[in-house]
Amino acid sequence: MKNFGKVYLIGAGPGDPGLFTLKGKSILERADVVVYDRLVSPAILSFCNASAEMVDVGKMPTHHKVKQSEINKLLVKFAQGKPGAVIARLKGGDPFVFGRGGEEALELIDAGVEFEVVPGITSAISVPAYAGIPVSHRGIATSFHIVTGHEKQEMQTCHSELYETKNFSSQVELCPLGRSTKGGVEESSISGLDFPALAKCPGTLIFLMGISNMEMISRRLIECGKDPKTPLAFIEKGTTPYQRTVMCTLETAGETILRENVTAPAITIMGGVVELGKILAWRKNLPLSGKRLVVTRAAKQASGIAAKLSALGAEVIETPMIETRTLCEESSKVVLADLSNFDVLAFTSTNGVDSFFELLFRAGLDIRSLAGKKIASVGKITEKKLLERGIRCDYVPEDHTGEGLGKLLAAICHSEQAPRVDGSRLDESRILLLQGNLADDTILKLLPKATRWVVYETLPVATLPDWKREAVAGADAVVFASSSAVENFMKVTGCTAASESRVAPKLAFSIGRLTSATAKKYDFEVVESEETSMDSLVKKIAEYYSV
Ligand code: SAH
Repeated sequence: MKNFGKVYLIGAGPGDPGLFTLKGKSILERADVVVYDRLVSPAILSFCNASAEMVDVGKMPTHHKVKQSEINKLLVKFAQGKPGAVIARLKGGDPFVFGRGGEEALELIDAGVEFEVVPGITSAISVPAYAGIPVSHRGIATSFHIVTGHEKQEMQTCHSELYETKNFSSQVELCPLGRSTKGGVEESSISGLDFPALAKCPGTLIFLMGISNMEMISRRLIECGKDPKTPLAFIEKGTTPYQRTVMCTLETAGETILRENVTAPAITIMGGVVELGKILAWRKNLPLSGKRLVVTRAAKQASGIAAKLSALGAEVIETPMIETRTLCEESSKVVLADLSNFDVLAFTSTNGVDSFFELLFRAGLDIRSLAGKKIASVGKITEKKLLERGIRCDYVPEDHTGEGLGKLLAAICHSEQAPRVDGSRLDESRILLLQGNLADDTILKLLPKATRWVVYETLPVATLPDWKREAVAGADAVVFASSSAVENFMKVTGCTAASESRVAPKLAFSIGRLTSATAKKYDFEVVESEETSMDSLVKKIAEYYSV
């Protein structure tokens, strides 16, 4: 393999970000380029590094999607043009289950580009599971069969948002259902379906991409002897907030699609197991099932509330309103000859740890420059962050506050029984505080001779990427934990109170009186938590949707 970038064909799962694999997430976090399909959930896109180049091949600026052959070329182009780069190709479900991942892989092989496949949870089994339908069940179905229900023409029209015309690699001869195509791909892959065999098959049948052909598929199955009363379910937008299950029988499939307006993406599942869905439909019982909520807290704080809301069934779009930036201009200071002037490094946030190490590396140094120094941390989370970098903390205050840390270090410097460094008393002037620009002076007041380096700054987020704007536009409500978050949210979504082009949803959940007042100023319908705490806010949101 040449010195190209490497492509990862990653399955994004069916929609719920909680079903995305840990391996996929860790690749997205370090990917330089992310080429993604239309069906990939925005919550999964938010795992990507903020500096990654995001390429939406589900839709071009002109609102046409990119053809499969062009996607193949694009992947090769990125890999060849970016030696050492990590290129993530994110596809719905599993890349090798009707995902054309094989075609992309063949193209990469042809071009000498290295690749890996990261499987995803296919919609074929997970979407039924979210509708409470087990694809196999003892005594009802001992096998299940995943079948494509599209034909070539449909791929160009009905599912055009997802898939383009076939363009198989010249290296192999491929066709649906393993039939030989000899002179090329069959005109109609649906006519390649072995209806007599499918009709005879006692297992569960699962059709992907089959909605627009289902009238014909069900008719052919009945003609070939399948029981017209076979239970059948359509599951639309499975595992997303908009999941919907419509049940009928094989003989009423066509009319049901029209009457209920079943639309893609949807899977069709038929067999006795469908009946179990009437008893086991667990998801609709979650209080926030079907809701998409925008959480505007800073990423680290957001995860706590996001996890709680997700556990209640919501899809959460984390949209932090502030971001932190390492003050690289400071790196000259960290030309760490200076570090020899200090015996204690005191960290008051995980951001401080990250930024300090970024500066250390920028200065061409590493943890060896910290040998012999004492390390202090404000609390457990920062302590853990340091431990991840192979550094144990010597001093952590019991109360996990800046004041606690200041008092602890002051005591060590000034008390008779205090621990010593190298036999001598710890010298206050040899303490280095590593903090952000918004840190207050609490510690410095307790340790006036210490030095403070501001290693990062906190800024309001200035813009939202397009995919996030779209996600916000489709949300049911926004969750605000501060007035400034409301103000900045309105700014980045380009909204004024009564703007015609308002992206923000109408409903806001607010943590307290001031935040509510600001939200009302922008014409939000506001629901306020009883107490000023995240738990109270989560409780309020659940109550609101339960009535
Ligand atoms: N590789 C994908 C399938 C791609 S084919 C996978 O493994 O899931 C696209 C089809 O998958 C859609 O037409 C639809 O039938 C099905 N599909 C994908 N995501 C779905 C979802 N969230 N809900 C219902 N059907 C879905």
